[in-house]
Amino acid sequence: MPMARALSSICVFCGARAGTNPAHTLAARAMGEAIAAQGWRLVYGAGDVGLMGEVARSAQTAGAPTFGVIPTHLMTAERGKQDLSQLVITEDMHERKKVMFMNSDAVVVLPGGAGSLDEFFEVLTWAQIGLHRKPIFLLNSEGYWNPLIALLDHIIAEGFADASVKGYFTAIPDVPALTEALRVALS
Ligand code: AMP
Repeated sequence: MPMARALSSICVFCGARAGTNPAHTLAARAMGEAIAAQGWRLVYGAGDVGLMGEVARSAQTAGAPTFGVIPTHLMTAERGKQDLSQLVITEDMHERKKVMFMNSDAVVVLPGGAGSLDEFFEVLTWAQIGLHRKPIFLLNSEGYWNPLIALLDHIIAEGFADASVKGYFTAIPDVPALTEALRVALS
């Protein structure tokens, strides 16, 4: 269950690039708008690039509070967004992930690359060893995460994880359905 807090915070992990499929950009914008429409706060990596920038700008424009966390050395590369409601600059990537996670009630993973996978697996493995019970959602925009789900099935089939690992996250194909699932999870 999420911790009691007036404002629910949604941690969004996603690409520092936009990728090649415009559907993912539209989904990122829709996610930002949905966070604002629900009266939630966006917690994210504070960059103004790729899908990160799309989520943040759309959430901000629609009136959501934004909490960004970025390590010092990425302030230039990921164009640390200075106009967020709150901007936390951390020493390193580990601290960044920890601060993002600690300040969130739920995690949503949009399409992204190795960084997004790292972030997903960190919260998944923390759930697997009982460190938290915060809900984790994959936005499976146009089936983007199907190969990841197939990889997890392979890992289970080969005996390197219990089938229960798939119970720690939910893959949802579109933003409206994901928003509804978040509403239920946070209620
Ligand atoms: P990507 O999905 O690769 O575009 O990266 C998305 C976000 O994850 C970016 O903000 C990256 O800075 C961040 N990231 C990349 N590598 C790591 C890592 N090893 N640990 C934590 N975050 C990372």
